[in-house]
Amino acid sequence: MATKFLSPKLLNTLPPFTRFLSSASTASIAAVSPLNFDEKPEPNDAEKQLTEPTTATTNLDLSDHQKLFASVSTLKLLRSSATLGLASNERFIDFGMWVMNSRLMETSLVRDAILKTVKHTFFQQFCAGETTEEAADCVRRVHDSGFRGMLVYAVEHTEDNAGCDRNLEGFIKSVELSKSLPPSSVSFVIAKITAICPIGLLRRVSDLLRWQYKDPSFNLPWKLNTLPIFSDSSALYHTLEKPAPLASQEELDLHLAHQRLLKLCQKCIQDNVPLTIDAEDTSIQPAIDYFTYSSAIMYNRDDKPIVYCTIQAYLKDARERLFMATKTAESLGIPMGFKLVRGAYMSSESNLASLLGYDSPIHNSIGETHACYNDCASFMLERIADGYGAVVLATHNIESGQLVASKACDLGIRKGNQKLEFAQLYGMSEALSFGLKNAGFQVSKYLPYGPVDMVVPYLLRRAEENRGLLSTSSLDRILMGKELMRRQKKLQFTKSKMASPSSIKVEIGTE
Ligand SMILES: Cc1cc2nc3c(=O)[nH]c(=O)nc-3n(C[C@H](O)[C@H](O)[C@H](O)COP(=O)(O)OP(=O)(O)OC[C@H]3O[C@@H](n4cnc5c(N)ncnc54)[C@H](O)[C@@H]3O)c2cc1C
Repeated sequence: MATKFLSPKLLNTLPPFTRFLSSASTASIAAVSPLNFDEKPEPNDAEKQLTEPTTATTNLDLSDHQKLFASVSTLKLLRSSATLGLASNERFIDFGMWVMNSRLMETSLVRDAILKTVKHTFFQQFCAGETTEEAADCVRRVHDSGFRGMLVYAVEHTEDNAGCDRNLEGFIKSVELSKSLPPSSVSFVIAKITAICPIGLLRRVSDLLRWQYKDPSFNLPWKLNTLPIFSDSSALYHTLEKPAPLASQEELDLHLAHQRLLKLCQKCIQDNVPLTIDAEDTSIQPAIDYFTYSSAIMYNRDDKPIVYCTIQAYLKDARERLFMATKTAESLGIPMGFKLVRGAYMSSESNLASLLGYDSPIHNSIGETHACYNDCASFMLERIADGYGAVVLATHNIESGQLVASKACDLGIRKGNQKLEFAQLYGMSEALSFGLKNAGFQVSKYLPYGPVDMVVPYLLRRAEENRGLLSTSSLDRILMGKELMRRQKKLQFTKSKMASPSSIKVEIGTE
């Protein structure tokens, strides 16, 4: 990949980020090395976009690195800059991923050494800690910087009921932790259905739901009330044959999984913190949506969603599913909350579809994904302006942040409205988080915590997302580099002033 540099002159002229909505992704904003500010090449197309005035009104200013990072210590900036720089090195990430997935991890000595290295680099950058106490400290730090925390006990796939019970305890502790922290410092507790329902059962339930969508006469005796899970454009190729009904043990396990989710919802109501269910891949997502919607129907009341569903805008059916679920929820008088993401399982989705000989369920171009995300966001803002539902805009994409900020203002949605929240992952997209916060919006950071080995799948997804100079974090790397340079210059200036005899006199005189 060719390395391009953004000149200091150009960086100094960066206006507030005012890019049009249907242009390229944030990833293409700039390809830079944060350490090289001396070269002055011709600006490329992406760079030109940053300097060209646009007609979009904005109240987001992401160019003033001094203001953006005012509350971030130099040590933290240095560490973040170094880790994100490392993550952008494709060879390093390829090697790291190979090692993590290799049999080397079965040797305890190698495994310990690798996990230790991960702990002091990627884990520190992207995770809130290993224990609830460390997570609590992280929430307080994040809150001191003006953000709220989304508490994510980072357990993932589980095979059996005993594991699911243990994980539920972890989620319940997250809710209890949120109660012990400063009021409103925790915006959401996050849970994964894969941690409280055995993964094999999620596959079976998804198959059965898909088959019922194809054949509405197919009876599912265990099925609870739900919102629409599929649309005409949903991928149904995972289920090519009529699945066998659930065996009695499977029905019992499904009942147990439901009970776990209901217990978690009740705890969230009791401690007054909303619960967001993460989205995963399409092989199990129908069952996840089914769990989410059925519990939302039970617990979302009085204009206050307690259970939020996640919609992945990279899916071709995302728009329709969101519209249908929202419409049905409104007709039933159920306030529904959605977290909107683009989606993190791109390669596995495409690989599975091509293996089975079907088109990928993901939009054919990234432009379509961006358009879908922005449409879904606009739709939810309009619902909120009309007094229905709630949305979490979980994105690192500056255009989307810009669009939503402008549209929320146009629609007269108050910046402190509890129904509108922006969210970015901890350790990522700091510029956008600070920019949105400085513009007055509510911003959360997604804070996964748990033992390092448990968080590895999450870290692998982050490594994939941050790899390459054009990754999501490229803007952060530029701005952090600039801010570090500014602080270094200031330090040198102060030192040279102190070294001059006249300044020494002043210092002595002021003692
Ligand atoms: C708070 C929070 C919570 C999240 N929760 C979830 C979750 O529950 N489930 C989940 O799956 N993800 C989740 N994510 C991850 C999110 O999906 C990723 O961060 C996402 O990959 C990056 O999207 P972005 O909006 O930041 O956009 P950008 O920074 O613009 O990134 C766009 C990315 O989309 C990808 N992409 C999508 N469609 C296409 C296409 N058609 N062609 C090429 N590339 C494409 C590319 O890899 C590209 O890097 C969450 C993220 C946040 C911030």
